[in-house]
Amino acid sequence: MKLTELKGIGKKTAQKLQLLGIKHVIDLLFHLPLRYQDKTKITAINQLNFGQTALIEGEIVKTYQINSRKPMLVCEIDDGTNTIALKFFNFFYSQQAKMIAGTKVRAFGEVRYGKYMMEILHPEYHHFTKPLPLQDSLTAIYPKSEGINQSTIQKAINQVITLLKTGEINVEEFLPDSILNKLNLPTLKEALIYVHKPPADADTNALLASKHQTQQRLILEEVLAHLLAMKQLKAKAQEVFAPELPISQDKIDTFKTQLPFALTAAQQRVVGEIYHDMQKNHPMQRLIQGDVGSGKTVVAALAISAAYTQNHQSAMMAPTEILAEQHYKTIRTWFDNDDIVYLSAAIKGKERTEVLERIAAGVKIIIGTHALFQKEVVFNALGLVIIDEQHRFGVHQRLALRNKGQFKALQPHMLIMTATPIPRTLAQTAYANLDISVIDELPPGRQEISTLVISNSKMPQIAERIKANCQQGEQAYWVCTLIEESEVLRSKAATDTYEELKDWFPQLRIGLVHGRLKSDKKNQIMTQFKSHELDLLVATTVIEVGVDVPNASLMVIENAERLGLSQLHQLRGRIGRGNKKSHCVLMYQAPLGEVAKTRLDIMRKTNDGFVIAREDLKIRGAGELLGSKQKGAVQFRLADYERDKPLFKKAQSLAAQLITNHPQICQKIIDRWVVDHDEISNV
Ligand code: ADP
Ligand code: MG
Repeated sequence: MKLTELKGIGKKTAQKLQLLGIKHVIDLLFHLPLRYQDKTKITAINQLNFGQTALIEGEIVKTYQINSRKPMLVCEIDDGTNTIALKFFNFFYSQQAKMIAGTKVRAFGEVRYGKYMMEILHPEYHHFTKPLPLQDSLTAIYPKSEGINQSTIQKAINQVITLLKTGEINVEEFLPDSILNKLNLPTLKEALIYVHKPPADADTNALLASKHQTQQRLILEEVLAHLLAMKQLKAKAQEVFAPELPISQDKIDTFKTQLPFALTAAQQRVVGEIYHDMQKNHPMQRLIQGDVGSGKTVVAALAISAAYTQNHQSAMMAPTEILAEQHYKTIRTWFDNDDIVYLSAAIKGKERTEVLERIAAGVKIIIGTHALFQKEVVFNALGLVIIDEQHRFGVHQRLALRNKGQFKALQPHMLIMTATPIPRTLAQTAYANLDISVIDELPPGRQEISTLVISNSKMPQIAERIKANCQQGEQAYWVCTLIEESEVLRSKAATDTYEELKDWFPQLRIGLVHGRLKSDKKNQIMTQFKSHELDLLVATTVIEVGVDVPNASLMVIENAERLGLSQLHQLRGRIGRGNKKSHCVLMYQAPLGEVAKTRLDIMRKTNDGFVIAREDLKIRGAGELLGSKQKGAVQFRLADYERDKPLFKKAQSLAAQLITNHPQICQKIIDRWVVDHDEISNV
């Protein structure tokens, strides 16, 4: 059935609906309400509560205009129990003329506290003489879209619901009876009819909280669809081949002897999991989650060494120039210098040509930035791709690098590393196509970072602290934050602070890095800071990810109230990397808003990335936490990770059950709920 066959839907509206993803009549059924209005009963005026949205009826007592700054129309109505004022800022004379004392009005809107009596601002209203009928179900309010008004959508969906009730159209039930019965869930048809037209006696609290059985039924199917899609992708990876990289234990042992430390148990376990994958002839697709400072770099190096000993190339990509350069320097100390090259946009001219030639000729290790997946880069026997700080890359960039790797129809093994830990159930859903390893232990000797939250006005005390810290031979960061401004402004602000701090601390060696510095200059400053030729580093958030200078034990973050939890945690993760006690000072500009206050409080109370991520999830929701850049992660239409946690767990076991017992319906469920299926693939 075509959309235009519905009453009220012409060609133009049908086109606009298409933009909402509504192409067929049946799609309207899956355009689900955002909220509900209750127009099934009249509330007596003396029974109204402030803040309540209600339907009332009464006789007009009087109508008048108030002319303050903006003229306002007031119409008082009485239902025998009390009086309420309907108020309008924008009104027509014709409207006013109809509001005659003694006539009857029905109005709907939110009840507010007024100076003399309760009031409703801009209510929906109707005049009537004969009794008006009441709605027999709650009124669904749908997500808005440009150029289509609410009542057009409501009317169209009402027609479709009627067709569904009479059986003229049908929705196929995919979940087997056995599952529905066991979970005590309604059928899809029942659920859809109910959520679009909940009966007058429906449990509105449950509906508004999306906790009604019928809503849960739909959410479960959506979560299930995403899980099945991800699992399908994972299964597809089994049809692709990768070079088998047998592990040579002596060579790995020899490699380990040159490390300046012993691996933690968690690092060892994760390396074991990686090696297990790399020996197979299908590509590894593994996500390593490890909090800041947990030692992911050395784990990456061990993966590289496995490819290295089998004469395969490894490419490691980091999101910033500073971080890529740092990885290059660190990892170079563990391999033969002739076997490793560095590539970024800053490598130009003859040097670039040379690096590109060496990559094409098969140099074993390549470390760099986004520059690695440009066209001109041609790999030779690429066996392993490592992506550090994965949240910084979009799915297309990741895909581009992987596809480059294809040689002799083999795909490289893929290791993705992230310091944004997310709770296990969420990770299992959002990244169901990846295997997940967690480095859940910090290297020995680390001390808790203590965090102070201090108002900007206390600058002198902070200055003393920096001086004392640096005079004891330790180093410090001063982080300047300016968000949503241009890189130019950010860099300028940092430069101003740098000049100011030089005046404050004539005795300290101070450096400055920001995004607008040439990369040689950036590298030079970072190297000086790392080798302790500088005491204090003034920086923009360019140092946010990955930077590792264990002797730095103090960090001051300006205007910390402007940053989100994950970002603060990442930044703070730059200190507390050695075995000295570290301190982080979060400066803020008073007064603090509620959310900012909560955030800073959480930062003060805990250093645990998982706890912080969980709190962040509560504040921002999963979609935000996973990041819009992270298109690889699932975006749900109905489901919400925090709210529907128990359903996510249920969906896990259900997905496994369906794949084994009802494989033929899996694809149907995916097609119903998952758009852009291919977008999600191969994260
Ligand atoms: P991240 O997980 O944040 O990427 P890094 O790999 O940068 O962490 O490691 C943080 C610091 O910890 C580095 O200075 C590194 O040398 C050190 N480190 C890593 N593993 C260990 C270990 N097992 N024992 C002691 N220090 C370690
Ligand atoms: Mg790192």
